[in-house]
Amino acid sequence: MPYTLPKLAYSYDALEPHIDAKTMEVHYSKHHQTYCDNTNKALAGTEWAEKPIEEVLMNLEKLPSEKRNAVRTMGGGYCNHNLFWTFMGGPTREPTAELKSALEKPFGGFDGFREKFEAAALGQFGSGWAWLVLDQGQLKITQTSNQDSPVSMGQIPLLAVDVWEHAYYLKYQNRRAEYVKAWWNVVNWDEVARRFTEAK
Ligand code: MN
Repeated sequence: MPYTLPKLAYSYDALEPHIDAKTMEVHYSKHHQTYCDNTNKALAGTEWAEKPIEEVLMNLEKLPSEKRNAVRTMGGGYCNHNLFWTFMGGPTREPTAELKSALEKPFGGFDGFREKFEAAALGQFGSGWAWLVLDQGQLKITQTSNQDSPVSMGQIPLLAVDVWEHAYYLKYQNRRAEYVKAWWNVVNWDEVARRFTEAK
């Protein structure tokens, strides 16, 4: 079965005014669809086509070398966006008490976490992502370039912000900092907590 786009749990305009409907529509129906289609093309006819995308990304070095780069970029983009949609659109404004207390030691609490996560998002030069991951049981803030995925590094993604210009340019143009500040308003903390509990 070829990969397909996961259904969005909310409408394109649900994240307004922070993330505008047009950006959501283009991001999901054009950008994400292209990553999905190109992943299917790259994996067609290989034994990997039937496997979950996470398993493929964890085994990039086992792929035929002529496929590897396409899968790394397109498969990474497919997987990263599958996650990204679930990280937004939540009803809660803050992490659960359990997650908040887990943020104390590594980041100095929720405020410290936000500060460091924003710094990662703004400090990512060019296209990429900022992440909160669980790495060998430790919470870490990381960055990836282009569509590289933490999954390929054996990490478990808990939260991410897309800082490719396509994620914010229509509304924010070059103002990435404004986009990231606004993005906090739409974070789905229930999903972050769910993934954290599952990963532990
Ligand atoms: Mn994107």
